[in-house]
Amino acid sequence: MKINNLVDLHCHILPAIDDGSPSLEASLELAQQAVADGIRYILATPHHMDRHYLNHASDVEAAVDVFQTELDANQIPLTVFPGQEVHLNGQLMENIDDLLGMDTSGNYLLLELPHEMVPSYLDEMIFQLSCEGITPVIAHPERNAQIIAEPQRLYRLVEQGVLAQVTATSLVGTFGEQVQRTAKEFVKCGLVQVVASDAHTLKNRGFAMTKAYDVLNKMNSEYPERFATNARDLLNGEQIEMGRILVPKKQKKFWLF
Ligand code: FE
Repeated sequence: MKINNLVDLHCHILPAIDDGSPSLEASLELAQQAVADGIRYILATPHHMDRHYLNHASDVEAAVDVFQTELDANQIPLTVFPGQEVHLNGQLMENIDDLLGMDTSGNYLLLELPHEMVPSYLDEMIFQLSCEGITPVIAHPERNAQIIAEPQRLYRLVEQGVLAQVTATSLVGTFGEQVQRTAKEFVKCGLVQVVASDAHTLKNRGFAMTKAYDVLNKMNSEYPERFATNARDLLNGEQIEMGRILVPKKQKKFWLF
């Protein structure tokens, strides 16, 4: 099945700004791939405040303007919006003015956790963000080692009001069976509300959105429409309709190392 005019809310498509696309040429190539995969709107989310990259809000906005001009000049039918993949850190609140939301109203923030664990101050950070009217959207929880081992942690986070984004290639199986099973379990339990590509130019880190929507469709024919609508609502800063959430089961085959 093919859904058109998809919204992709997590992507490293801007040239030479993080570990995503290395050049304008590569970015235009990525954009062509996105369009071929049914994507029409894309949120550019370069890494921000992780150990390697600082991509200030104003710099991302300027880079998006330049890139959009190139897309238009090359007649690639893709609209890009400025965003950031913000790494969880203790200085978030002091830097709140330098954070870009997933929507222009700044209601949603794409938040990346460390890959190995969930820091103990996350709950406090969620509370502080919520006081500013910001809902964190946790990026790819299905790839976090501690959440894989203790999936009920994601349940508790969603109970507190956060949302979560599953990565398309996780659903498709690119990161292996355990990540795939965890991703599907989170979908079934209502703990992830949007699917996004997290595309880089690296091999096996492409878009895979159509394939991911196929996986969703096989799980439940109502999922594709729901996920597509959620992504649009999120980009527009609107409230997402939350269904019932369930406590996820831990997937077998767990190794910590
Ligand atoms: Fe990412």
